[in-house]
Amino acid sequence: MSIAPYQGPSVFGYETDMPLRRAAQISVHTSPLATLGGADAGGMNVYIRELACHLAQAGLPIDIFTRRTDAETPEVRAICPDVNVITIDAGPPEQLSKTDLFPYLPEFAEQMALYSLRAGVRYDVVHAHYWLSGWVAELAKRYWDAPYVQMFHTTAHMKNAVAAAADRETDLRLNVEKRLLTLANGIIAANPDERADLIWRMGVPTEKICTIPPGVDLGVFQPLDRAACRVELGLGLAEKVVLFVGRIDPIKGIDTLVDAAAVLDSSGSRPTFVIVGGDLDSDGAPIGPLAHVAQSIDARGVASSFRLVGSQPQDRLPVFYSAADVTAVPSRYESFGLVAVESLACGTPVVASRAGGLRFTIDEGATGFLVKPQSAPALASGIEAILTDEGLRGDMSANARRSVERYDWSSIARQVMHVYGRLAEGHRAHFCSGYDVFAMTGSD
Ligand code: UDP
Repeated sequence: MSIAPYQGPSVFGYETDMPLRRAAQISVHTSPLATLGGADAGGMNVYIRELACHLAQAGLPIDIFTRRTDAETPEVRAICPDVNVITIDAGPPEQLSKTDLFPYLPEFAEQMALYSLRAGVRYDVVHAHYWLSGWVAELAKRYWDAPYVQMFHTTAHMKNAVAAAADRETDLRLNVEKRLLTLANGIIAANPDERADLIWRMGVPTEKICTIPPGVDLGVFQPLDRAACRVELGLGLAEKVVLFVGRIDPIKGIDTLVDAAAVLDSSGSRPTFVIVGGDLDSDGAPIGPLAHVAQSIDARGVASSFRLVGSQPQDRLPVFYSAADVTAVPSRYESFGLVAVESLACGTPVVASRAGGLRFTIDEGATGFLVKPQSAPALASGIEAILTDEGLRGDMSANARRSVERYDWSSIARQVMHVYGRLAEGHRAHFCSGYDVFAMTGSD
């Protein structure tokens, strides 16, 4: 089926000469409305939702396009003022694995274009998340005369560098990502590491990339009364508590955390590990990937140290962060690592892998420790250093909140808006705002 390129009626403020009147975000494989902490719903979902709502607050209405995975989902749902999630029919209305989605992308692009025709809207800029959506944004150029900016969130190239053989990404993904580097009108990297990789190893011209990290809602993530939070979670006031929050995915390095628990157990210090993320059945028993984690915890003989509480709504997480002595982020790779920043915003130090964005958000020795990825002894010793030194923990906690104020959403959204504006005005290079969040850390 072919339709003429969309010109669009003069509606929704199109009478004005403003270059930026409405933007589209594309997130094919996962919706900003999905339950967080499952296999495919985490930081990117939070990022898309928060960015859209903050851009809309600043005056730019946003439509977010995602694939239908459930026959009952309404076509249009508002998630905050001036932000709609549009559910697109492409492929069977059920969960499909990311690797099975590629053949449905042309249909997705076509249905997106038909939606915009029916609704009488057009977009001045398109923001694609993850490689699948980048391909859709490229296909949508047949219908929409709008530039697109690509955010990878992770690249196959960087993931494969740390993944076990069985978890390696496909050649299809590798090849599509390579193509998108040239096809996209602009690229946003989440941290200086990702930017450097894209420039030096993948050959992207520097003038096409801006580095803008995700933001964090500092109103939601703030320190709460520790004792009250512990009572609420059934944790003892004197207990040493290590928190993990995240998707249950091999990239998150939860196997290293389990091994670190065994190291700590054999050295006599036995903190409680609270694991937030993954699924429980109606009796509270772990299922899916979390069941595998439970098996490895049993196999290491440390089951009595672990509490698997399943995924939690995000607005409940400040209670967990505030109750913990330290948050562990043992990821093999992390594009940004929202969990680390959320924890710091709640005043809780972080021990994290020296990987990806984590290297730029944790101030070594001042707000936590960075340790060698996939090293249980290194992780255990970082955790122990904080658990056994109340003075150090107190100092880190006092520094933590201030260190993440630069991730405030209003400033991050302003920088993204600047990129959109330059793209919509026709610029194809040098569209960054000139403000560098990471320059403030002094770690690059
Ligand atoms: N999250 C949540 N509930 C959970 C687990 C995770 O709300 O049970 C949220 C968490 O607050 C964070 C995001 O999911 O905002 C995970 O983001 P991160 O960047 O740490 O990891 P990613 O999922 O992008 O790999």
